[in-house]
Amino acid sequence: KDSINILGVRIDCVNFRKAKEKCLEFLNSSSPHIVFTPNVEMIMLAQKDEKFKKILNSSDLNVPDGIGVVWASKYFDEKLFERVTGFDLMMALMPELERHKKRVFLLGAKPSVAEKAKENLLKTFKNLSICGTHHGYFSQEENEKVIELINSSKADVVFVAMGMKKQEEWIYKNKKKLNCKLIMGVGGSLDVLSG
Ligand code: UDP
Repeated sequence: KDSINILGVRIDCVNFRKAKEKCLEFLNSSSPHIVFTPNVEMIMLAQKDEKFKKILNSSDLNVPDGIGVVWASKYFDEKLFERVTGFDLMMALMPELERHKKRVFLLGAKPSVAEKAKENLLKTFKNLSICGTHHGYFSQEENEKVIELINSSKADVVFVAMGMKKQEEWIYKNKKKLNCKLIMGVGGSLDVLSG
């Protein structure tokens, strides 16, 4: 089985290595691919919100974020994988993005947090091309400007850290307008990176 279904949410049967491999594959494809990292909270939220459930299931890859999802999966027949958190996956991709000269855009968190995260990332990944940043508190009116900023930056990857639900909804709504290869929801990761 390639995936299991936990209360209506598809979780792909990937371990960490496989998840990373898939992301690298997406990077070399010709169209945008979406990676979500459902945790138990998100799955519970999807129980009350059909639209959110549909959005979660529309991704190209859903990794089991958190031990709760791995634990829940024990109730299914298939032997399960390890947890793959959005933060860990994002960090594991960084050296590859650096090596393959891919362009990274950081979207989300409060003003100046993404810039600080960029600064910190560049300390470790000196040749990483972070082609742009933007905070995650923009209005519907400002949305087109943000899309334009991302597209004109020629980003290959957009990490979206606007918190669960909000980031998935934003990605779902805007994926067709984005010219990048990989879009990943990473929750509060920019706060962690900026610290
Ligand atoms: N965030 C954002 N825009 C918003 C709401 C939140 O960029 O409109 C950011 C917030 O600054 C934080 C991250 O999303 O960096 C995670 O937020 P929160 O902890 O509320 O979300 P959760 O932990 O539920 O994913």
